Amino acid sequence: MFRLTRSQFLRRLLPGLLGLICAFTFAACGTSTTSGSSGAAGGSNVLRVATEPAFPPFESQAADGTLEGFDIDLFKAIGEASGFTVEFQSLPFDGIIPALQAGTIDAAISAMTITKERAQTVSFSRPYFKAGLAIATKEATTDVTSLDSLKGKRIAVQIGTTGQKEAEKIEGAEIRTFDSAPLALQELSNGNVDAVINDAPVTLYAIKSGNIKGLKVVGQLLTEEFYGIAMPKDSPNLDKVNAGLTTILGNGKYAEIYQKWFGGQPPTLPETAPL
Ligand code: GLN
Repeated sequence: MFRLTRSQFLRRLLPGLLGLICAFTFAACGTSTTSGSSGAAGGSNVLRVATEPAFPPFESQAADGTLEGFDIDLFKAIGEASGFTVEFQSLPFDGIIPALQAGTIDAAISAMTITKERAQTVSFSRPYFKAGLAIATKEATTDVTSLDSLKGKRIAVQIGTTGQKEAEKIEGAEIRTFDSAPLALQELSNGNVDAVINDAPVTLYAIKSGNIKGLKVVGQLLTEEFYGIAMPKDSPNLDKVNAGLTTILGNGKYAEIYQKWFGGQPPTLPETAPL
């Protein structure tokens, strides 16, 4: 009478099991988050760090859900050098600065360009990467060659980015915003826009890795930008993040991480970003 078929058994057991796993996961997260927000003088020992994980090779999600990329390795190494651990969480890119302002995260590493405007609301670490914006178009397109050639054209960008800001300066351009850079690039690949303005290393990586088909980068870099780790204004963690970054820039660890994700030697970085 109480015999169940295998599938009945699984159907009854699985929800319970899943509930149990969830409960444990939440308990684990809850504990570390609490210790992470202790906010002692000099900052806490577990930093809650946000990233928008659709920006390879800086940050992406592996098949098993874990975060990987240059930024992820870099922040872990900074933590090791400065004696704190990092607890990553994913946020939409345009939600990062509001979360820093609200104090629900301690820091963000998300290939975020240090800009004058952002520096008014958050504090940035010293620059950790030199990048710049590039124009991508379809391989077969011949009339997209420069910023000037984009007048009146359809341009896809990721929302809240320096790419969006640059596109907004173009006369008569029709701008379409997307939640992530891969979505903007896919729109271009599908032929629904004429160009994408995005960080050059990310667009080049998407083309090289074959993630997005039929695109090319044209013209010169539009800008020179430096990425920084963002923290709440005057965060107590600012000094130790900078100290850790300075340590790994000097002891070869930064170069090792750069080599892993980009190959070759890293360029020298300024101590402050020219704004
Ligand atoms: N570097 C660009 C910016 O800061 C894009 C960053 C991103 O999309 N993760 O706006």
